[in-house]
Amino acid sequence: MKRSGASSSSGPPLKKVAGSAGAIAPWSMKLLDSMKDPKMIVRSDDLTVTIKDAYPKAKHHYLVLPQENISNLRALNRAHLNLLEKMLKDGKAIAENVKSKEEGLVFKYGYHASPSMARLHMHVISKDLDSPCLKNKKHWNSFTTDFFVEATKVISLLHETGKVELDVKGVYEPLLKLPLKCHVCHVELKNMPKLKDHIKRHM
Ligand code: AMP
Ligand code: ZN
Repeated sequence: MKRSGASSSSGPPLKKVAGSAGAIAPWSMKLLDSMKDPKMIVRSDDLTVTIKDAYPKAKHHYLVLPQENISNLRALNRAHLNLLEKMLKDGKAIAENVKSKEEGLVFKYGYHASPSMARLHMHVISKDLDSPCLKNKKHWNSFTTDFFVEATKVISLLHETGKVELDVKGVYEPLLKLPLKCHVCHVELKNMPKLKDHIKRHM
């Protein structure tokens, strides 16, 4: 699925990667560059790296990634449970730090059911969803519907079943097409400008 935060550009032509079943778009690997970019890194250690989201979809938006090359949720097994807990702990620590400087912020922590970017990444995002980079229905629904899978749910699934298998095509991708609804009072809005205008009343 070619849904990207970097949607201002559709990216260079698809490149066939030797040995891979399909094609991988170079733009989808850009998080790996940001993981090494001192301007993007917020904190890092042997296990995880926290970076700023380059196209924040709220006032505050970070990504926590493992140092280990884990491609996505499907690659997880029970041996990764401690790592996922650590990623959540790191995300909460960043959020606490931001909250200590700005009153009234609430954060959520989770994974897109079908991410556009490579390397497993957990979103740490403030619930205002107030950002010029949040431009369209896909962006909005990817953070306000169950397409955003809470980190605690991923951890429970992995704990209980030993894997994180989501019915992306059948259940999750259709959520991106749902009508636009305010995430606070759930009223339906006709378009993004109306929605953006509406959510100001909740700030
Ligand atoms: P997703 O793959 O849908 O879970 O989200 C990928 C996230 O990566 C989006 O929130 C983008 O704004 C963000 N993003 C895209 N390119 C970069 C980059 N080069 N560095 C940091 N974040 C990025
Ligand atoms: Zn509302």
